[in-house]
Amino acid sequence: MPDTETMTAAVWEAPDVVAVRDVPVPDVPPGWALVEVAYDGICGTDLAIVHGKHPRAEQGLVPGHEIVGTVVRAGASGPAAGATVVVEPLISCGRCRACRTGATHVCRDLELYGIDAPGGLARFVALPPEVLHELPPHVDPRVGALVEPLAVAVHAVTTAGVAAGDVVAVAGGGPIGVLTALVARHAGAAHVVVSEPSAWRRGVLADLGLTVVPADRTLTDVVLELTDGEGADVTFDAAGHPAVAPELTTATRVLGTVVVVGVHKAPAPVDLRDVCFKELVVRGVRVYTRDDVVRAIELVADGSLGLEALPTRAFHLSDVAAAVAAAADGTGALKVLVTPDAALADRA
Ligand SMILES: [Zn+2]
Ligand SMILES: [Zn+2]
Repeated sequence: MPDTETMTAAVWEAPDVVAVRDVPVPDVPPGWALVEVAYDGICGTDLAIVHGKHPRAEQGLVPGHEIVGTVVRAGASGPAAGATVVVEPLISCGRCRACRTGATHVCRDLELYGIDAPGGLARFVALPPEVLHELPPHVDPRVGALVEPLAVAVHAVTTAGVAAGDVVAVAGGGPIGVLTALVARHAGAAHVVVSEPSAWRRGVLADLGLTVVPADRTLTDVVLELTDGEGADVTFDAAGHPAVAPELTTATRVLGTVVVVGVHKAPAPVDLRDVCFKELVVRGVRVYTRDDVVRAIELVADGSLGLEALPTRAFHLSDVAAAVAAAADGTGALKVLVTPDAALADRA
């Protein structure tokens, strides 16, 4: 049980204004659980919210959907008090066609904790038990904080059907691009080529043993050279930036697959002649299914991706503005975490 009636939270108040305030500990609806947050990861969606660019977030929101923490009050079902959990933050309507056919992750009215409802940039968050997944006790919660973005990568690679021996191209070496590349390699890809404009991130990619596109070359150049002019079996767009859109088709082989993972903010120039002549499959992916989250937890639990090596930086919740700035800057840490526990924060 919480030892206080108020808690510290980061509240999005206006474009580029996030206030750290004392707010009431959330009411816990019947059957729900109360989770004490250990870490909450910051992603591009959170930056969009803070900048006032997210279409659904409302002022007064406590953002944060990449949550790992400890159950302090168990729900009517699910993990017991004391369990370390990661959150599958999706809220599906249960009534639309997608929901009725089991594809609740693409609910027509999909919402998320941390966007449409209070999230993890706080000491406590109330959640229904069905969104909680227990993290095995041996997993460092700091690595557990990567489960949510890792589930996105698992969903992308699984949907693409990456097979042993494949050549995989990834446009964008941010957290999602890096995780997608690592999951593709683990799925058996023979070569994973990643393009990324930031020199610091290119260094991270190289340290992970991935093939990095040099600054003066294109993803297409490197992939064609590697494949005798054929192209990649699968190309992932993990950038969501219009600049990479033309390369999605040029880097991909005849009868290959393009998977759009990154969220584009406006229509992007994709060459539909290539889609036609190469008979490409162009496939979108959105978040993840429950199976993908379970698989992501297995991957952090067995250590096979080496995620401990990813450069992360944990800021105290009181420094959330600095955390947001570090995430927006994108160098120095591949993933920025926020913790309400001063003992878990990195020294400045
Ligand atoms: Zn996210
Ligand atoms: Zn629905």
